[in-house]
Amino acid sequence: MPASVGAPRQMLRRLREVMAEHESAQARLDKVVVLIASNIVAEVCSLYLRRRDGTLELVATEGLNPGAVHNTHLKPGEGLVGLIAEQAEPKQFADAQHHPAFSYRPETGEEIYHSFVGVPILRGGHTIGVLTVQNRTMRQYSDEEVEALQTTAMVIAEMIASGGFVTEEVTAETRRDANARFTGQPISEGVALGHIVLHEPRIVVTRLIAEDVELERRRLLQAIEDLTTMIDEMMDRGDMARAGEHREVLEAFRMFAHDHGWRRRLDEALATGLTAEAAVQRVRNDTRARMLRMPDQRFRDRLHDIDDLSNRLLRLLSGGTETGATGNLPEDAIVIARTMGPGELLDYDRQRLRGLVLEEGGANSHVAIVARALGIAAITQCDGVLDAVEQGDAAILDAAGGELHLRPTQEVISAYSDKVRFMARRQAQYAALRDVPAMTLDDQRVSLNINAGLLFDLPHLDQSGADGIGLFRTELQFMISSTFPRLNQQTRLYKAILDAAGDRPWCSARSTAATRCCPISAPAREENPALGWRAIRMALDRPALFRTQIRALLRAANGREIRIMLPMISDVSEFEAARRLIDREVKILMRHGRPEPKRLMVGAMIEVPALLWQLDSVLPLADFASVGSNDLMQFLFAADRGNVRVSDRFDSLNPAALKAFRHIVRSADKHDVPLTLCGEMAGKPLEAMALIGLGFRSISMAPASVGPVKAMILSLDAGNLQQRLDELLDTKKTSLREDLKRFAADSGVQI
Ligand code: PEP
Ligand code: MG
Repeated sequence: MPASVGAPRQMLRRLREVMAEHESAQARLDKVVVLIASNIVAEVCSLYLRRRDGTLELVATEGLNPGAVHNTHLKPGEGLVGLIAEQAEPKQFADAQHHPAFSYRPETGEEIYHSFVGVPILRGGHTIGVLTVQNRTMRQYSDEEVEALQTTAMVIAEMIASGGFVTEEVTAETRRDANARFTGQPISEGVALGHIVLHEPRIVVTRLIAEDVELERRRLLQAIEDLTTMIDEMMDRGDMARAGEHREVLEAFRMFAHDHGWRRRLDEALATGLTAEAAVQRVRNDTRARMLRMPDQRFRDRLHDIDDLSNRLLRLLSGGTETGATGNLPEDAIVIARTMGPGELLDYDRQRLRGLVLEEGGANSHVAIVARALGIAAITQCDGVLDAVEQGDAAILDAAGGELHLRPTQEVISAYSDKVRFMARRQAQYAALRDVPAMTLDDQRVSLNINAGLLFDLPHLDQSGADGIGLFRTELQFMISSTFPRLNQQTRLYKAILDAAGDRPWCSARSTAATRCCPISAPAREENPALGWRAIRMALDRPALFRTQIRALLRAANGREIRIMLPMISDVSEFEAARRLIDREVKILMRHGRPEPKRLMVGAMIEVPALLWQLDSVLPLADFASVGSNDLMQFLFAADRGNVRVSDRFDSLNPAALKAFRHIVRSADKHDVPLTLCGEMAGKPLEAMALIGLGFRSISMAPASVGPVKAMILSLDAGNLQQRLDELLDTKKTSLREDLKRFAADSGVQI
């Protein structure tokens, strides 16, 4: 008898009643199978759940021999039940016993039943159990019946996940492997022992069965509409920076939200009597299960989109606006997200934040820069990790090694505890160097500065014992707010920096790594944003924005010395034009009776290769110069710094790169212009050593790198290295890394 559309709803209502009863888990499971059997009009209904060892255990049955419960176990792939579990899709057989996969279990007494239908119980796209129905006659089960079974299976899955069925005797193993190891790309070094916090908490659907189907339909429609409006607005405003959204992801969402197939499946799930939340969950589970089994990686990549979209819908439906940052944060949080914007990371309580793991995004993205500034261990490109974690899981993040250990074993924990103790001892050694000047063995003083970008960086200046701020990324304040920071806001920030810096020098750079990251002026989408309308280009085309910033800087200086660094100069004329704008602002300042800075230094960033052949023209105009090696490298080698496939393809210790640096040093010497370098390589002891060998006497880095770099400098003879480098630069090698390591080892340089 085919079930009417009303029948599954009725069944779900009864299921809810059973779940509400105060009985043992086993008693409730026993009732559930009776209920399903009577509803579908079948002689048998059985429930199998996956155990920790991967086998499927018969945990309840109506119709089979009761003695088989907890005694019948099927190995993965064994029998029809194993087949359904493996393929994660419903299957029916009119004559099950003659199917080649049928596995006869005499203890069950199932030989008298011919027809068989089974559906997987899915959680996150993975099978955690199988629900089966059998009849004596050879019959065909209708689509509605299979659908009703799937809906019931979904409800059972949710109940298992929320602990509703798990007792000592029934051990549905919903989790993946007990301990797991993932690899990723280091963003910011360090080791963190802590507990997982999901940046986007998963909504646990507790209200599964609809009381009013029409109402649920309206709720779902409203949520989809709200979500699409939100996405459209975000894309129209270009306001994606704060959340670190990728336009491609939003576009995928938009496509899904309008996808008829997806909407139809939601409708069908609602029609079986689920709530809006449960319908979203149900369709997500089924789609995941299907996609996980597709051979094409591209489909599997879409899993993320479905997950994100479903999560957002669930959050809208439940009215939940919590992120990991606003929830209950453990004292040792390791935050996991697919992507994240710099502003979102800053929402976390720093005292409790130990680590960050991202599935997507380059190691030089802005959230990565903020993670480094925060000094937390962080990795990116940690593929598939979200699939395997649960909120609160114990974890160890070894960022330098690019490893994340989930639910680690005791041996791994003690190995890392040793490592952390060792690192703490090293940190103490570095701290002891705080007030020691960075002087090489042959008396070359190197100025060590920090890169900063936010107010919380400022205490690092004292803590690290740095000589000054070599780069202040003023653009971060633009990126973490969705409106343009006003003159007063900017003035307050710059004044705080100048106050913290005291007599130490500090520089300002206003470079946005990519236009799409700058919400204030998102232009049309660019094919190559790194090569696009950003930094000085934007400043000159939008002089009002640039002048506001300069005005804020001059006001904040209030008569003190100030340095302004101009990013992305590709042509001398750009430097001249920007300088004219700055000079004009100084005149206006004085006209308003405000004090002129004691000294105003305007510097050029050397980060576009074309400038390498204009150094003789630009350096005489500049008061100082700073090499932006992150950009200079990506442009020299035409390798996108944010694209992990190519960003590590070329070593910064390649002779071509080092010759470019040597050329810059020689030109700066010739024109007697102070020179520094503020790209990420300055913070790595081996690279920093090479830079000093090339003649740099000032470099700027993340605060945590000052100690290790200083230790290296104190053990280095710069003259010896310079000689060695001159020989090496003329060899035909793709990288001098190994030679430089050998030099360090042979001459006792601490790297
Ligand atoms: C650089 O390019 O090296 C640099 C320091 O600037 P940013 O990383 O902000 O582009
Ligand atoms: Mg740059």
